[in-house]
Amino acid sequence: MSTAPRGRVAVIGAGPAGMATALSVHQAGHDVVLLERYKQARPAGNILNLWPPPIKALGLLGVDVDDLGAPCRSEFRNAQGRRRVEIDMPPEIVRDYGGGFIGLLRPELYERLLAAMPPGVLQVDRGVDSIDQDESVVRLHMSDGTIENADVVIGADGIDSLVRRTLWGDSPKREHNLQIFGGFTYADDLGVEPGLCIISHSRTVQGAWTSIRHKGRSGFQWWVLQAHPATEEYTGNLHASATELGREFAFPLPQLIAATDPDNVQRWPIRDRKPLKQWSKGRATLVGDAAHPTSPYAAYGAGMATEDGYFVGRRLAGVDLSDYVAVRAALDAFETPRKPHTARQSQQAYMLGQMFHHAPKPLRYVRDQILDRTPLLQKVVGESSPKEILSQIDLIDQAEKAFTTARR
Ligand SMILES: Cc1cc2nc3c(=O)[nH]c(=O)nc-3n(C[C@H](O)[C@H](O)[C@H](O)COP(=O)(O)OP(=O)(O)OC[C@H]3O[C@@H](n4cnc5c(N)ncnc54)[C@H](O)[C@@H]3O)c2cc1C
Repeated sequence: MSTAPRGRVAVIGAGPAGMATALSVHQAGHDVVLLERYKQARPAGNILNLWPPPIKALGLLGVDVDDLGAPCRSEFRNAQGRRRVEIDMPPEIVRDYGGGFIGLLRPELYERLLAAMPPGVLQVDRGVDSIDQDESVVRLHMSDGTIENADVVIGADGIDSLVRRTLWGDSPKREHNLQIFGGFTYADDLGVEPGLCIISHSRTVQGAWTSIRHKGRSGFQWWVLQAHPATEEYTGNLHASATELGREFAFPLPQLIAATDPDNVQRWPIRDRKPLKQWSKGRATLVGDAAHPTSPYAAYGAGMATEDGYFVGRRLAGVDLSDYVAVRAALDAFETPRKPHTARQSQQAYMLGQMFHHAPKPLRYVRDQILDRTPLLQKVVGESSPKEILSQIDLIDQAEKAFTTARR
C-alpha cells in the first residue's frame, strides 16, 4: 500500500451511500467515522431492486452478497401483459449475476452492510448540525454540542442534505406529483413464475412486480404508481388504494396485492432535485441522494449511492489528506465520471414519470400505440440500460485494478 499517511474522513449519514463510503474509505487505509443522527442505521422502506454494478461493488467492499436477492430478467409490458421491452443482458452479466435486476428487501441490505462494518466506525445518535471548513480542516458541529475535525467530509445525508445545502445553497425539491404504493408477500401458492421483473403501464398507472429473496426465503414484491398532487394529503387505506390501482393489470399483480399483509404495504410521494453541476467544494464532497436525489422510477438511487461510495473510497486511496491540492484533485477525479451517469439516470426517471403519468389525456392513446407498435421504448430503456450497466462494471474493474496494484 502507498506510504501516504492515514487521514481522517467523516461520513455523514448511514444509508446505503454512507455505509458503502465508510467501507471503501476504511479499505483505503484512512481513519473513518460514519455519523448517523438516529439511534440506528434504519432502512426507510421495504422494496428494493439492485442492478449488478452495486452488487459487484458491495462484494469488493467485503459485504456478503451470497444469496442477496433474487436475480430477475426484466421486461416492460402493457397492462394486458403484452411485452413492449426486453432488457437483454449480455451473457457474462447473466453468468455472473444470474440476470439483470436483483429483487430484495431493504433491511437485509442494511444488515449485511452493517455486518461488514469494522467496529467503532459507525457512531449512532450523532447528528451533524453544521459544517465549516478552511484549506486545512473541516469542522463538524454536532447536535450534542461537540466539534469533530476531519481532513475530508463526505455528505451521504440524503435528499435533504445539510452538506449539499452548505456547499451549494438551497434548491427547491422537484415534485413529480406522483405517489407509489409498494409491498411484498411470501405467498407461494399463486403459480407465479419466479425470476422475472415485470414493469407494466396502463393509460395512467404503473404496476410492477419482481421476485425477491429475503433471508433465504423466496417471495415477490410489487408496486403501483399513479399521479397525485404533492400538495394533496393522502388519507386513504394503503392496501385498499393499491388493490384499486392494481385491478386493471394482468395476472399476477392483483393476486400478489391481495396476498400481501396490509402491514407490509407502504406509500411514498415521489420527488427529487435537479442534478448539480458540481458536487465537491474544498475538502467536502457528496454521495448518493445528497449528490443526485433520484426518483424510485429509476430504481437505481440506492444502487448509484452504493457505487458512489465504492468509487470515492478508491479515489482517496494513497492520497495524503493533509495536502489540500491532492484532496481537491482526488475529489474532482471522483465526481467527474459520476456526474453524467447519475444525471442521466435521474433525468430519465423524471421524464418517464412525466410521459407515463402526466401526458395530456388526448395524447395517451397515441403514446400507447407508439409504445405497443414501435421499438421506441426498447431503444430508450431496453438498450440503454444494459450499456450503462456494462460501462459501470467496466469502471469498477478499472478502479479495482488500480487499487490492487497500489496495495502491492
Ligand atoms: C419507494 C421507493 C423505492 C425505491 N426503490 C429503489 C430501488 O428499487 N432501487 C434503488 O437502487 N433505489 C431505490 N430507491 C431509491 C433509494 O431508496 C435512495 O436513492 C437511497 O436510499 C439513497 O441512499 P442514501 O444513502 O444516499 O440516502 P438515505 O437512504 O436517505 O440515507 C441518508 C442517511 O443520512 C442520515 N442523515 C441525514 N442528515 C443527517 C445529519 N445531519 N446528521 C447525521 N445523519 C444524517 C439519515 O438519517 C439517513 O440515515 C427507492 C426509493 C423509494 C422511496
